[in-house]
Amino acid sequence: MVCGTIGGVRSAPTILHLDMDAFFAAAEQASKPSLRGKAVVVGGLGPRGVVATASYEARVFGVRSAMPMGQARRLAPHAAYLAPRFSLYRSVSDQVMALLRALSPLVEPLSLDEAFVDLEAGGVARDPDAARRVGERLRADIRAATGLTGSVGLAASKMLAKIASEEAKPDGLVLIDPGTERELLAPMPVRTLPGVGPATGDHLRRAGIATVGELAEAGEDELVRLVGRAHGQALYAMALARDERPVVAERETKSVSVEDTYDVDIHDRVRIRLEVRRLADRCVRRLRAGGHAGRTIHLKVRRYDFSTLTRSETLRGPTDDPAVVREAAARLLEVVDTTGGVRLLGVGVSGLADFTQEDLFAQAAHAGEEEPGEEDDVADRSIPGREPSVERPVRRWTAGHDVRHAVFGHGWVQGSGVGRVTVRFETPESPAPGRVRTFSVDDPELEPAEPLPLVTSAAPVTSAGPVGPAGPVSVGPVRPVGPGPRGSGPRRPAA
Ligand SMILES: [Mg+2]
Repeated sequence: MVCGTIGGVRSAPTILHLDMDAFFAAAEQASKPSLRGKAVVVGGLGPRGVVATASYEARVFGVRSAMPMGQARRLAPHAAYLAPRFSLYRSVSDQVMALLRALSPLVEPLSLDEAFVDLEAGGVARDPDAARRVGERLRADIRAATGLTGSVGLAASKMLAKIASEEAKPDGLVLIDPGTERELLAPMPVRTLPGVGPATGDHLRRAGIATVGELAEAGEDELVRLVGRAHGQALYAMALARDERPVVAERETKSVSVEDTYDVDIHDRVRIRLEVRRLADRCVRRLRAGGHAGRTIHLKVRRYDFSTLTRSETLRGPTDDPAVVREAAARLLEVVDTTGGVRLLGVGVSGLADFTQEDLFAQAAHAGEEEPGEEDDVADRSIPGREPSVERPVRRWTAGHDVRHAVFGHGWVQGSGVGRVTVRFETPESPAPGRVRTFSVDDPELEPAEPLPLVTSAAPVTSAGPVGPAGPVSVGPVRPVGPGPRGSGPRRPAA
């Protein structure tokens, strides 16, 4: 019997899925020596903020992505709570994506820290041994270039490559040999499969189906009866490990979106309309900030029972007009039944001229925001215990963000309140945790600063400067670009 060659499925594990480990939190720990080995939570610090990423040390306490920040603080009161620094994450992401593009022309980013790569299309691997070697070398190269770890999954399909990288976490590599897929999937819970959310999971469990093996046994007809035609057929194919989706170099949907999760379900239709209008405005600010216009307006509604609906409308031409987006979103809302209440609302615009990754972190960035303002630099306004001054603009010192002091050098904001800001002076290359000092919030010697690169390298490609995300990357053997261990490169002036 020939295994692993159903239909057009390839017979070698040459689809690679890379996922950086606890990316935002790991980048913060690499930046801030005092936080290494500690519980770190990155996300919105405002009252409605959610966790974007928790370090593995914080996950021990039960902190998870997308959890409300208040819940995280109750679970891990001693963790460091930091606002995201997207400029840093983006520059690291550019370095990682450049390493992937050196392996193959077919790289499909899913987010800042996650992507599929078709190794066969790149001509770098045709069999399991070569694929494993490429995967291990990639992990070493990423570590040398960024100082961070990533996990790699290798399989003959996208679905299995992603499951493999999940199994590999943290800091590992798992290769699924073609032919072993069904055996491997059989004992896994149905929720392992992409697109199986809590509602479908519950529904299937009530029908006595808890594992992927039981899905396969149930058969296609039974699954179609249970969850409908499209979903039932897809579930059955996934249970048999059939997934022939190709790796595509660009994402089909280029979009900008924002969404809000509500602590308490909203029932009031008037309030829901207001929220959608607010989201539409925020989405347009984000769209404009990226210099984009888009043609298709999307509305996302997650209802009280976690069922999620998306509706969209395509305009005749691209727009970045807030009134147009607002009206389209309002029209889409009118055909959605919200009786019972909504937990989440989102508005997006797709069909953009340029690809940006804004949508991928819109929610996390927004998480620090309390009120929509004119500026979209949301992370800058979430300092607890601060009263806005009416006399003159007060500088905002956001926990986790970079500062520079005329005397003490580079540091980061540990906390701020009652007219004071506490700064820890350290850099990614400080040999030990830095000293902490407290200043007045309007100390003229203290100013906001840009993040420092995590790894100082002699090779310009790994500087934190603009690394062309889509620029030409020489294809060929990938060499580690860093000098190796942290701190062996040229030194910055000591803090
Ligand atoms: Mg990740």
